[in-house]
Amino acid sequence: KVASTAGASGSGSTAAPTTSSSVSREARVASHSHIKGLGLADDGTAIQSAHGFVGQKSAREACGLVLDLIRIKKFAGRALLLAGGPGTGKTALALGISHELGQKVPFCPMVGSEVYSSEVKKTEVLMENFRRAIGLRVRETKEVYEGEITELTPTETENPLSGYGKTISHVVIALKTVKGTKQLRLDPSIYESIMKERVSVGDVIYIEANTGAVKRVGRSDAYATEFDLEAEEYVPLPKGEVHKRKEVVQDVTLHDLDMANAKPQGGQDIMSVVGQLVKGRRTEITDKLRGEINKVVNKYIEQGIAELVPGVLFIDEVHMLDMECFTYLNRALESTISPHVILATNRGQSTIRGTEYDGPASSSGIVSPHGIPLDLLDRCMIVRTLPYQRDEIREVLRLRAKTEGLLVKEDALERLTEQGVKTSLRYALQLLTPASILAKLSGRDEIAVEDVEEVSTGLFMDARQSALLLK
Ligand code: ATP
Repeated sequence: KVASTAGASGSGSTAAPTTSSSVSREARVASHSHIKGLGLADDGTAIQSAHGFVGQKSAREACGLVLDLIRIKKFAGRALLLAGGPGTGKTALALGISHELGQKVPFCPMVGSEVYSSEVKKTEVLMENFRRAIGLRVRETKEVYEGEITELTPTETENPLSGYGKTISHVVIALKTVKGTKQLRLDPSIYESIMKERVSVGDVIYIEANTGAVKRVGRSDAYATEFDLEAEEYVPLPKGEVHKRKEVVQDVTLHDLDMANAKPQGGQDIMSVVGQLVKGRRTEITDKLRGEINKVVNKYIEQGIAELVPGVLFIDEVHMLDMECFTYLNRALESTISPHVILATNRGQSTIRGTEYDGPASSSGIVSPHGIPLDLLDRCMIVRTLPYQRDEIREVLRLRAKTEGLLVKEDALERLTEQGVKTSLRYALQLLTPASILAKLSGRDEIAVEDVEEVSTGLFMDARQSALLLK
């Protein structure tokens, strides 16, 4: 099942383990934190303002239909193409779809031009992102100590070397379980992690018998992260004294597994299991390695331990891809396991990159709608996004200010809306934070007209102003 994704590569076999920083990926999603879904009513019609979405109703409804196709598994082999001007919510729509598919469904955004790196093959970058967008939900049964913390005592001793200051020598945790209370003496390194996780007396946690990893399960709103209890001698978890077996669910992406193998770290379970597959340290993700991971994953799936969770791969500025990439995309879409692919562009008729016979700058080459080859376009369901109305821009600005915890005076909001109408929604949104900084500098909590005025005309220019000035 999975092997066919790797089979679609046809690419070179070596690449750096990662090509784009996850930080920038997160930052790309951060400006959409107000988007929680598509905001559709039960009958599939778009609610003017819901789930953080404002307007763009027919595009949202169309996306809702795509969502239905995905849910009944009739979207395989196709892609969604969002076509519309900059800042008209294409990324927001893709994110909305991924939210609707469920929590923990991977969302991997990328920009077409990302494939042009001097170090890594283009198709390799695409493949990496495909694997980032395919999740694996692993259910494992583990032997654990589980209970409520009734005692959490770090024991301090004088630091013998320096003669002053104290260090924590060990931590005693008492866990209350159905069978009574059990005391565990743990390595001091766990103390920092416990503090970081804000695990405290009264929380319910579990400690894995094999790895010593601790998870907090006490609060439903908190998501626990794993950390290791390294030095085994400090973790007296005698065999045969296990309190219970517990089903542990872990969500990873195929790319996580690739990475775990390229740089084995041990620890998290499925990762380390797969990590042990290939002995020795590697720093490269190769096709061979992916193939081996796919085999293990397939085995897990057959055994019913794991389940594939196809996520959303969002490729913005898809016209930046070239013929080689489009060919790859076509093939990857056909594979049995593929993420849901959403493409976006703001181009109309343009030349398909990689078809010019005397270099990208020439006017030769195949011209196609959106710069996408017809055979790929044939697979696409195309949805257009329209420019926003004044009221919609105002509403999005209001939403965004609220999400960022910013107070905006009514007339300042009007001024920002004005900017949005004149330039773009994106630009108006980007003025919010600098304006709030100016307001703070002037000792105000609320953004006022003069702050907006200063950022939009005094300090910065929009693209049109700038071009005009240069002319
Ligand atoms: P580009 O093609 O330039 O990447 P885009 O079409 O993907 O632009 P987005 O990045 O989705 O545009 O939108 C710009 C900003 O406006 C984002 O912060 C987005 O969340 C917000 N936004 C866009 N449309 C809406 C909407 N209908 N409701 C609420 N917020 C929106």
